Amino acid sequence: MSTNVTETLRFNCTTCPSECLLTVEAEHDANGTVVEVRSVTGNNCPRGDTFAHQELTCPMRVLTTTVAVSGGDEALLPVRTAEAIPLELHAQAMDLIRGVVVEGAIRMGDVVLENLLDTNINLIASMDIDRA
Ligand code: SF4
Repeated sequence: MSTNVTETLRFNCTTCPSECLLTVEAEHDANGTVVEVRSVTGNNCPRGDTFAHQELTCPMRVLTTTVAVSGGDEALLPVRTAEAIPLELHAQAMDLIRGVVVEGAIRMGDVVLENLLDTNINLIASMDIDRA
């Protein structure tokens, strides 16, 4: 006998500024793992459906933080992933980023770490820093 449970969830699609409120019916197994997304409504475009499936199976977020700077006119450089990466990788990525020191000067968009944790996504600078 299946112990799976179907529940209705409501959350916003954050893919674009419209932030449509999605209503999602999802089936969970006994461990709380989503085994099937049964329906998605409230989305004004197909990207909302994709977002809902991803949010329930592998949520993705842009990671933003800072890294230390050597020889620059600022001590810290704000950085972010160029695109969203799996949320479950954020703690591991932070462990890696914590040890990074960049040399000034650096320009916004410069790659700080290539292919972060084999995600094919780069960590990039979010602002300009000049040499000290
Ligand atoms: S469903 Fe489409 S229109 Fe609505 S927030 Fe998501 S991307 Fe934007």
